[in-house]
Amino acid sequence: LEAEVEDVARLESVTADGQPVALRANLDLPVEAANARRHGASGIGLFRTEFLVVGRNSMPGEEEQFEAYRRVAEAFKGDAVYIRLFDLGGDKFPAFLHLPRQENPFLGWRAVRVLLDEPELFRVQLRAILRATVYGDVRILVPLVNDVDEVQRVRAMLEEEEDGLRRDGIRFNRGYKLGVMIETPAAALDAAELARYADFFSIGTNDLVQYTLAVDRTNARLARLFNPFHPSVVRQLHSVSRVARAAGIEVSVCGEVAATSLGAFLCLGLDITALSVAWPALPELKKVVRDIRMEDARAAARRALAAANAREVMEALAEGLPDTV
Ligand code: PEP
Ligand code: MG
Repeated sequence: LEAEVEDVARLESVTADGQPVALRANLDLPVEAANARRHGASGIGLFRTEFLVVGRNSMPGEEEQFEAYRRVAEAFKGDAVYIRLFDLGGDKFPAFLHLPRQENPFLGWRAVRVLLDEPELFRVQLRAILRATVYGDVRILVPLVNDVDEVQRVRAMLEEEEDGLRRDGIRFNRGYKLGVMIETPAAALDAAELARYADFFSIGTNDLVQYTLAVDRTNARLARLFNPFHPSVVRQLHSVSRVARAAGIEVSVCGEVAATSLGAFLCLGLDITALSVAWPALPELKKVVRDIRMEDARAAARRALAAANAREVMEALAEGLPDTV
């Protein structure tokens, strides 16, 4: 089995008709970087940084954060590493923030909203990530963005941290990129506006599905309703992909659905050719990608876009998938 993982890792990540596909890994911990590499990841599409704060008594200092970011950047030298700013709130809040209980945490004080309200907590993270830009192709990802104002405010905070590093004579790479997660219908519908301020998009379907369908992603009773193939979701993927191409910026999908053969087929059919998934899923996903022809994926996506419900979307996709998948 190990030998097969390594054989597949060596294969090119390209469709049967020659379209290169970036297959990156989602990381929850820096120690996973080695496994991601062994499983053939061509970069880290989503480095979730919450491990640094959840279950802790205080905010980790700059050196500890810097070491974590540098370690992953160095493990993937030459490949893109997308580091996401703390996505606190929802179901993840460190005890030391002493947060009052929220009635609807997923509709509450979460992610970029916390970041902008508590800049002092986040400056350390921004500074640590900036320092890590020297060690690889580091890209900064802002979670749960709703509008351009939030992106501009994060950029302004980053610029202030850049000034601070310059003053202190500490190196960073000015060429880093700043992009946004597309995880709310607001962001998907306003993607054209966001594209003027963001260097790239990463579509987080786990949240996009939750917020589009008003289905709590953690509620087991609703698991059946949590369907990434709902036509409303497919239409948003389609529209965000077109906006990104028109603006000349990269778009990737980093939600769980990208790891399924139907999901990957849909993404490719919508011309989203960068996917990021949990690293254990990478070898299977690469085999699927290598069996797909873009022409078939595009035709299936066109049929999926005309479907009336999630079942029809899935049928339209399944019909077009090659038998080998
Ligand atoms: C997502 O929402 O799809 C995503 C990748 O982010 P997370 O699962 O960490 O919320
Ligand atoms: Mg998310």
